[in-house]
Amino acid sequence: MIKVLIAEDNAINRELLRELLEARGYAVDEACDGRTALQMIEQTRPDILLLDIGMPVMDGYAVVRNIRENPRLAALPVLAVTAYAMQGDREKILNSGFDGYLAKPVDAVLLVEEIKRLLSQREGRGIRPGQPQESAACGKARSADAAGTGK
Ligand code: MN
Repeated sequence: MIKVLIAEDNAINRELLRELLEARGYAVDEACDGRTALQMIEQTRPDILLLDIGMPVMDGYAVVRNIRENPRLAALPVLAVTAYAMQGDREKILNSGFDGYLAKPVDAVLLVEEIKRLLSQREGRGIRPGQPQESAACGKARSADAAGTGK
């Protein structure tokens, strides 16, 4: 199962993305700020990160910079999901270490297409989905997995 980490400070947006992805067979974890997202990436080893730009503690630009500077994490596909939708924002985002970009409100078809595109790029680089691990912190980990019951 493909593991997606959603890093987003807005609970309603997190829930929308979670429902959309779980309905399509993805496993979803959540982080509500940038620092927590970085911790959860280390702990849960997601296959892809959906990253909001405007977040407390650490914003999306700082998160993606940390990821790209960390050899253990650098290959993680990162998709910006943001309300910053002007042309200049898009270029800045794509020049800042993000692999892709989606404007809010998120279109479900585009989201799944982007996830598949980024994962296929990653497969091309010889990286395979990571090992299942538990997660913690302010984000919401999959309770079924944490309990070892699977899903
Ligand atoms: Mn935000």
